[in-house]
Amino acid sequence: MKKCYFLLIVLLVSQFSVNAQPNTRRVINIPDIPGYLTLKCDFHMHTVFSDGNVWPSIRVAEAWQEGLDAIAITDHMEYHPHKDDLPVKFGRAYEIAKPHADDMGLLLIRAAEITRQMPPGHFNCLFLDDVAALDEEDFWASMQAAVDQGAYIFWNHPGWRQKDEIPIWHSEHDSIYGLGWMHGMEIVNGSSYYPLAYQWCLEKEITIFGNSDVHNPTGLDFYSGGEETRSLTLVFAREKNIESVREALDEGRTAVWRGQELYGQATFLKAIFDQSVRVISQPVKLIGEKFTYIQVKNESDIIFKLKMGDGLKGFGYAPELVLYPGRIAFMRLQNLTEGKEGNADISIPYSVTNLFTGPDEPLSVTLDMQVKFNKQ
Ligand code: ZN
Repeated sequence: MKKCYFLLIVLLVSQFSVNAQPNTRRVINIPDIPGYLTLKCDFHMHTVFSDGNVWPSIRVAEAWQEGLDAIAITDHMEYHPHKDDLPVKFGRAYEIAKPHADDMGLLLIRAAEITRQMPPGHFNCLFLDDVAALDEEDFWASMQAAVDQGAYIFWNHPGWRQKDEIPIWHSEHDSIYGLGWMHGMEIVNGSSYYPLAYQWCLEKEITIFGNSDVHNPTGLDFYSGGEETRSLTLVFAREKNIESVREALDEGRTAVWRGQELYGQATFLKAIFDQSVRVISQPVKLIGEKFTYIQVKNESDIIFKLKMGDGLKGFGYAPELVLYPGRIAFMRLQNLTEGKEGNADISIPYSVTNLFTGPDEPLSVTLDMQVKFNKQ
């Protein structure tokens, strides 16, 4: 019996010493949209098995603590600065992290980064079976090895080390795209945003990504500037599993979150807005004011900066409205209801100036409400 206890203690101690376990998990309030779950994902990060500075299971602990649903560890195939201390083992980071991810209910995707001089640059390959097979000197042979496994491939940080971070589309990219191998592209990498890459994705029907590309512990690389989150790819998936993530990526059902901005198709961004914002039709009067106010509640973690269309300025109220995360904003209704009495269906069109359906295209929304008011 004593022996059993001893064994149990050894097992428990070894369990805790291998895996770091955060005490709490953040809840990221971005609503699901009709028909799909909104999964918060980061498909680009490194560990000590390439040029990162953390052990693989720490990537899982960080992602779980920060409220993520799915991650891919994408260590470089070609670059291993820790190799004098740690043998080069392709795919080993995944093997170490996977049991920990399974325990915590985090989706972990087996992946790697093909890392070459620009052009063609860096490409992440997701859903691999055999990472080592990509270890080819020739870029095209390495890509072919990924394609042979049915990998999902996206072009990383197209503007990285380019003048003013403006990406250049080279003939190599024509070839990759022509072969049907450029499934996605990062329009956001870390804190960088590449509007031209976003334009290309819209023109060529390439799926958009926004990832951290984190090399240090996330606490060192993010949050020091007061960011709400690391840059993320939002994936609109039917279910929370690897197959559904793959299906959503194949179908282009993603959006990108960076700082206070969201990028994506109007259908997805509008659905997020509509699920996040509630108009409370019961008007309130504020102390010391004679006007009636409507309450607009933002239940999400995303800030919405609203600007009324030019043609509507005659209304004279709430030409600009900022909906802060988790807060209620007040909107003056005086001009609309002046001299009237009873119920009114009101629909007010706004641009959301920090949500982008294209490089210079703010999202259009309406705030809809039925207001009961008394003669003023
Ligand atoms: Zn990388």
